[in-house]
Amino acid sequence: MARVHPEIYFFGAGVAEGRADMRELLGGKGANLHEMASLKLPVPPGFTISTAVCNYFYAHGNRYPKGLKEGVAKSVARIEKALGRRFGDAANPLLVSVRSGARVSMPGMMDTVLNLGLTDKTVVGLEAVSQNPRFAWDSYRRFCQMYGDVVLKLKPENKNDRDPFEEIIERKKAARGVTEDVDLSADDLKELVAEFRELIRARCGHDVPQDPWEQLWAAIGAVFESWNNDRAIVYRKINNIPGDWGTAVSVQSMVFGNLGTDCATGVAFTRDPATGEKGIYGEFLPNAQGEDVVAGIRTPRSISKAAGRAMAHRQGMSEADRRAHQATLEESFPQVYGELLKIAARLERHFRDMQDMEFTVERSRLFMLQTRNGKRTAAAAVRCAVEMAQEKLIDKRAALMRVEPVQLEQLLHPQLDPKAAKKTIARGLPASPGAVAGEAVFSADEAVAVAGAGRKVILVRVETSPEDIHGMQVAEGILTQRGGMTSHAAVVARGMGKCCVAGCSEIEIDYAAGALSANGAVIRRGEYLTLDGTTGEVIEGRVPTVDPAMSAYFKKFLEWADGERKLGVRANADTPHDAKVAREFGAEGIGLCRTEHMFFDPERIDAVREMILAENAEQRARALAKILPMQREDFIGILREMEGLPVTIRLLDPPLHEFLPKEDAEVRELAAKIGVDPARLKQVRDSLVEFNPMLGHRGSRLGISFPEIYQAQARAILEAAAELRAKGVRAIPEIMLPLIGEKREFEVLAGEIREVAKELAAENHNRPGAYTIGTMIEVPRACILAEQIGEVAEFFSFGTNDLTQMTYGLSRDDSARFLGDYIERGIYKKDPFAQLDPEGVGELMRIGIEGGRKANRKLKIGICGEHGGDPESVKLCHRLGLDYVSCSPYRVPVARLAAAQAAIEERKAKREFKDV
Ligand code: ADP
Ligand code: MG
Ligand code: MG
Repeated sequence: MARVHPEIYFFGAGVAEGRADMRELLGGKGANLHEMASLKLPVPPGFTISTAVCNYFYAHGNRYPKGLKEGVAKSVARIEKALGRRFGDAANPLLVSVRSGARVSMPGMMDTVLNLGLTDKTVVGLEAVSQNPRFAWDSYRRFCQMYGDVVLKLKPENKNDRDPFEEIIERKKAARGVTEDVDLSADDLKELVAEFRELIRARCGHDVPQDPWEQLWAAIGAVFESWNNDRAIVYRKINNIPGDWGTAVSVQSMVFGNLGTDCATGVAFTRDPATGEKGIYGEFLPNAQGEDVVAGIRTPRSISKAAGRAMAHRQGMSEADRRAHQATLEESFPQVYGELLKIAARLERHFRDMQDMEFTVERSRLFMLQTRNGKRTAAAAVRCAVEMAQEKLIDKRAALMRVEPVQLEQLLHPQLDPKAAKKTIARGLPASPGAVAGEAVFSADEAVAVAGAGRKVILVRVETSPEDIHGMQVAEGILTQRGGMTSHAAVVARGMGKCCVAGCSEIEIDYAAGALSANGAVIRRGEYLTLDGTTGEVIEGRVPTVDPAMSAYFKKFLEWADGERKLGVRANADTPHDAKVAREFGAEGIGLCRTEHMFFDPERIDAVREMILAENAEQRARALAKILPMQREDFIGILREMEGLPVTIRLLDPPLHEFLPKEDAEVRELAAKIGVDPARLKQVRDSLVEFNPMLGHRGSRLGISFPEIYQAQARAILEAAAELRAKGVRAIPEIMLPLIGEKREFEVLAGEIREVAKELAAENHNRPGAYTIGTMIEVPRACILAEQIGEVAEFFSFGTNDLTQMTYGLSRDDSARFLGDYIERGIYKKDPFAQLDPEGVGELMRIGIEGGRKANRKLKIGICGEHGGDPESVKLCHRLGLDYVSCSPYRVPVARLAAAQAAIEERKAKREFKDV
């Protein structure tokens, strides 16, 4: 039969005018209904109105394209013919559902109306043909309820009130002395219909239409409109879904799960979406319809007997009780169960992925109403990918492409128990994943005190600075009001593998009162809050978490990734502990070991301050001599953990004022402690103030002004290497100079380091062994002059945090305040500090790589900015031809997978293999 309208696609009753790959036009739900129909699966017939009509509808003041009315009428006639029932027929009425469905699934965001076509006349016909008045009136009351809700948009009068229809049902049940909806009689349901319509008349000024065609068109319009309801708009914003995709509408003949005990409705997965374990997994309810299973009106039952038994066991229910009240689909509907298993297997083979299905059983006959690739936890995603490859459902490369790299990080941190209730009070940037709960504290010292008493704390600050490190170290998690994805709090927390929500501008912090408030909620010092660093949520109270485990599937999966990738993966780590963690996660070296955090250690900070206050080189050298042995121990610890692997150590980078106290009271205290004149200390501190510290006296500029500092650090590194070497431990230090912008600058500093190495060789029979001196490339000038710098530097490492800051002229510490506006208004697609900018910063990198390799064909080049752990940025690094990326330890698996995906994508583009 010919198509009735260009934007209408019919399915079921032996035809399918659409296909699975037409999701842009038909929506995911619609496209798969067509696909299932073409597989000859039992799908109730219907038709899909395309997303093009939705867009037309919005562009033309809620009107429809020419011929659509007639097309819909003809399509309904086609369903009528297939089923032998007529729409609006008083004797044997056809009922339909009107279903929404966009290109990607937006669970619960848009609307669906069921049992449409019921009127005062047709309900009588339905009573007669079904010989089941209870069913007829149950369907009618459901229709009135959904029509009121979806089409007439009848909402509770006060925001926090319950749904008014549900309230009426509750009252009815109480009046009848029953607890479950199935215990309401036909007469009760008839009364409900009258009461619902009264409510609708009172609140909307008119009745539920008694013309089925009027109902149909109102429902179609309402579903199109639901694309732009508030919920859907917010959901799209959060999930980066364009507003111009639109929704499709599927009109489908009803099948009934509420006709009696030989009927049911349910949902099923082909694998467990929480663990990935293979086997049918899901829930159903006998004598029920549509969303009843998920709405929680009755306790749903398990599909398979094994799952049902396990559930009963957990609840301490006896086997006899279970059979009486919680019989599974396998037991109650053995035939249907067998058929469902077959269909599930078929769909999984067909779509080559785990399926999430909706089904209804009408008088012991199974009907399929939906299938889609199932959403799954990170653990399930990995297990499914590995097992589907082992089952040869997909190949290894396809398996690697199936998992989102960022998901892997979830597997390394505790997560919120998905079953627990939670009250989210604000949302910030998901700066460092994991989920933690603790008492709110508002200063680092308080954090140390409370944590010292054995209690868990969350450090809440407007923003953090290096002075807060000790508090951050003992806190479970960190919450800041200001700062972006590369703010101090975010970077340090990621390095520590600690949960952090940063830049949460929805909260107000009152340090004096010791309280934070957000959207009406207040959390005082000592009260619990929970952070979800994966989503950026700030949650009131204590939400339970579940622990991670590196499963065998996870290990196998990453082995496969290593087999594909070309990029090396290193970690940014400042302590032996971080180095150890990084190595366990598969790091092939350390790409960035920052030395300044070592300076903040409470035992050393005073010596560091002495060094800063020194009035001449001699005094400075004396103070440095106190720090040197401690630094040497740090390096010994890290180099030992990374035995046989390269460790890039960056010499001191931040401006010196960061090491001095800010408050005058602290200045006095410190002056007394280290025996200097407070006035002089204050004067030094004030003299170090810069208008623009990030462009100021920092990085190699410190080495140029105070050669003793870098010489002392180099000595500590080389002595550490020599000491380890003497013990037979292979240490591979790479000394890295920050913020180089000029060849000569590098030569001067590298020359001084080589002097130290010579001195060391002369005074000591221990030799450090091989070491190299290289530079960060983080000033645009260094990219442009990379060829010159490449003549003298032995390696490059792109410091893309600073490079991004300087390329954009955008402060990484202050831009969070307005970057959001740029993203909202579509000027920048992504926060450039979170995802490498391929066009600007990426181009500078390309120039830098080209220059560097021109000077030295074998120059080793990596990246150590925060971007090294962002999958898209890792892929860009692969395309640019870097040797390695370096990221925080917990991101190492993420980078390994992203690197593998980049290699696979490249080979696919070159057509080195066909099907992935
Ligand atoms: P959602 O996107 O919210 O899942 P659906 O369009 O899938 O919305 O429908 C909501 C519920 O109604 C689902 O449980 C679905 O299986 C059920 N349903 C939809 N259409 C029909 C139908 N024609 N017959 C029986 N049940 C249906
Ligand atoms: Mg659905
Ligand atoms: Mg830098």
